[in-house]
Order: sequence, then C-alpha cells, then structure tokens
Amino acid sequence: MTKKIAVLPGDGIGPEIVAEALKVLHALRGFGFKFESEQAAIGGAGYDAAGDPLPEATLRLARQADTVLLGAVGGPKYDTLPRDKRPERGLLRIRKELNLFANLRPALLYPELAAASTLKPEVVAGLDIMIVRELTGDIYFGQPRGIETRGGERVGFNTMVYSESEVRRVAHVAFGIAMKRRKQLCSVEKANVLECSELWKEVVIEVSKEYPEVALSHMYVDNAAMQLVRAPKQFDVIVTGNIFGDILSDEASMLTGSIGMLPSASLDEQNKGMYEPIHGSAPDIAGKGSANPLATILSVAMMLRYTLNEQALAGRIDAAVQQVLAQGYRTGDIYTEGTKKVGTAEMGDAVVAALCK
Ligand code: NAD
Repeated sequence: MTKKIAVLPGDGIGPEIVAEALKVLHALRGFGFKFESEQAAIGGAGYDAAGDPLPEATLRLARQADTVLLGAVGGPKYDTLPRDKRPERGLLRIRKELNLFANLRPALLYPELAAASTLKPEVVAGLDIMIVRELTGDIYFGQPRGIETRGGERVGFNTMVYSESEVRRVAHVAFGIAMKRRKQLCSVEKANVLECSELWKEVVIEVSKEYPEVALSHMYVDNAAMQLVRAPKQFDVIVTGNIFGDILSDEASMLTGSIGMLPSASLDEQNKGMYEPIHGSAPDIAGKGSANPLATILSVAMMLRYTLNEQALAGRIDAAVQQVLAQGYRTGDIYTEGTKKVGTAEMGDAVVAALCK
C-alpha cells in the first residue's frame, strides 16, 4: 500500500537536511517501498507563508498523512515575534494537536565516532540508550502560567502537572521498548521534592507489575544528569517527564559526539508518529551546505521501524549510515583528522550509494 508522508522542512538547515532524507526515501523505491509525499510550511516558514507557525493547511496535511517528517524550526529573524507566533510554538502545537505524547530519543554511539565525543572513548564506546520523554504534559503546558505583577514586582510562574493517565500511557511505551531491548528501565524524576514526581513514581511502579521481566529502577534527575556523564553505559531505557527529558536527552546526545547524528520519534497511541532530528535549525550554518543530514536520515529509519512497520528497510538505512561512517565520510560536526570531509548533499549521496550497492 502506498504510504502518505507529510514533509515539513521548516527553517534554517531544515530544507537542506530534509532534501537528503527524501533522496533516501526515493532510493527505497528500488526495494519495493511505495510512498507519496507532500510538503507544507511550519515554524518561521509557516509564519512567512500564512502568518501562523502552524498553518491550518499544514495541520490538515499532517492529520491526513500516515506519518510526518520534520526538519527543524526557528531562527533569529523570528525571535522578536509575539510568543504565539514564534516558530517553536508551531512545533509544540503540532505535537499537542496530533497527541504525540511519547518522544523516543536514542543515543547511540557509532564506534567510528568514539573520538568525536568529548568523553573518554572507554566511557562511551558501545553506548546505546533510549530516552522516552513524555511530550505533551508537564510544566511546558500546565496552567496557570504567566507573568504578572504581585506586590509591586513582576512574577513569572508555570505549573508542573501530570495526571495518572498521562504517566501510565508513556510508562507503557517505555516498558514495551525495554522489553525489546535489554529489559532495564530507569524512571527519572525528582520525587524527593516534587509531589508531581511522587505521583509519577507511584504510577510507574503500578505499571511495572504488568512487565515483570523488566528491571525497574528510579533515579532523581540531578543524579541522572551526573550519571549520564560519569557512567552512561549503565542505562538501557530511561523514561521521564517533558522538561527533565528535554534536558537529559540533549546531554545524552553530546555523549555521542554530535547533535547532528541523533534522530527522534514522537508517537501517539496508535504509533502514528512525527519524525525529526533532535537538533534545531542551526542558523549559524544554514545555507552553507555543511549540515549533517544523518540525524534526519536516521529519523526516516525510525519512521519505517515504528510507524510504517518496515523493519527490513529500517535496517538497510541503519546499515548504510554505518557503512558511510566506516568509509570515512564526515560532515564538519563529526570531522576528525584522517577522515573525508563532505557537505550535506555529498553525505546524502554516499548513504544512497551504500543503500543501493
Ligand atoms: P541547534 O541545534 O540549531 O544548534 C546548536 C549547534 O549545533 C549549532 O552550532 C549548530 O550549527 C550545530 N548543529 C545543529 N544541527 C547540526 C547539524 N545537523 N549538522 C551540523 N551541526 C549542527 O540549536 P540552537 O542554536 O540552540 O537553536 C537554533 C534555533 O533552532 C533556535 O531558533 C531554536 O529555537 C531552534 N530549535 C529548534 C528545534 C526543533 O526544531 N526541534 C530544536 C532546538 C532548537
């Protein structure tokens, strides 16, 4: 059956890296994969086109499609817009509108890139962590929120809030993933201080009864931040809330050498998902043809694996990426002496060549 993919390139390097991911998707036609894609504007591009970072037509396309591929949003040009018009709002809204509550962020270190990590190779070699971050709740969405004047001075406030059902559904996703991996799940919160975290921990323990094979552990977020750089290989799957996951997954990404290598998936209850690299729009290198497209290409592999149920094709992409790294191809962000420095398009071409070999 032909799959419909909504493609939202976004801003900055978004269009450049998405173009390479599309090359890879087209190459998969050679293996019998049938798809059609349609592009729409989001983020700053959405604001420029329709005065809205998530234009109605974009949301409609995303809803109709089987799955969504996104580049990145944001840029200095949009930083002075009113908050609800800013590119990042478009991203938060599409996640909420599509009910994408589970964000899967793998941190996998390719052996060839061990030297690109700022940590010692022996600390990170063989690293393979999956962070499952809750994406539609927590302090990013909780009410009340705002800035108001109290007692003669301005006060800013946000609300950290989780319902049992929100914790339960993301916990099920995390346990399910742990079952397919090394069967270890670490739930990260701050239950020593926050009631919201206390409930989180209780619910995760309840859910764990349905997964007796998974070894569940608990860790406070400050300790988790420390353990991730001290001994990251102790982790298999981590499940955590929206704000803690935001911070920890960026930290975990740097263990692997470059933010330009890491894909992500955001899933709803039916595993329909939106796939995007974890990095932003990198305005400092946009338009230079030097961005690393591998995170976006690996996002396509995740799309095939988690939403389109094409495990073999996903495996082909993973293998092709591994092969180009073994052949020494490197974009600037992962370049080390003795390797071949290439641009965005050359890297995409190298992956396609490895795929079709
Ligand atoms: P960023 O991830 O865009 O860039 C951080 C650094 O990493 C930059 O030096 C950049 O050049 C480099 N980098 C990122 N992706 C790369 C790639 N594929 N190849 C090579 N180098 C890469 O983060 P930032 O600079 O904090 O934010 C820039 C803009 O992106 C802001 O407007 C921010 O709001 C937005 N942003 C968007 C998303 C998203 O769309 N999901 C995520 C984070 C930030």
